[in-house]
Amino acid sequence: MAILPIRVYPDPALKEKTHAVDSIDDELRKLIKNMIDTMYAAPGVGLAANQIGVLKRVVVVDVDEDLMVLINPEITWYSEEQEENEEGCLSVYPDKISVNVSRSLRIIVKAVNEHGEDVEFEAEGLLARALQHELDHINGMVILDRTSSEERQNALRGLTKQMGMG
Ligand code: ZN
Repeated sequence: MAILPIRVYPDPALKEKTHAVDSIDDELRKLIKNMIDTMYAAPGVGLAANQIGVLKRVVVVDVDEDLMVLINPEITWYSEEQEENEEGCLSVYPDKISVNVSRSLRIIVKAVNEHGEDVEFEAEGLLARALQHELDHINGMVILDRTSSEERQNALRGLTKQMGMG
């Protein structure tokens, strides 16, 4: 087991496009194990591979003690109904800022699981939010890209104050 350092904004790995996984081999299984260990150690409810510097389309999520490993995940449907809520991120000034992000309340996700099986399911509420957050990561986006510029500036200004930089 290995707990790996989580890349923090503005690390370039968080902005880069990640690559589809074409085979589930020992290397990928090791990556998944390390991602799970790192997520639980943080602690967080989700982690994307590029948050530990690996540019692959793999995410792990655990909301309500239900661990999910998703390889090449895609959101195939978003509900029109959205909800705005505060989100923080292990890669964006963790524990120091959270910003309001609007997300669809319900989504449908298609992916391959760690056993190589195709899965498709509907998610709602916090799970839907966590999945949209992690899918953003593997598409090179972070919460600061998902909020208004005013909110972003306020969050970063608050941060400067907390860090005593004036
Ligand atoms: Zn995040």
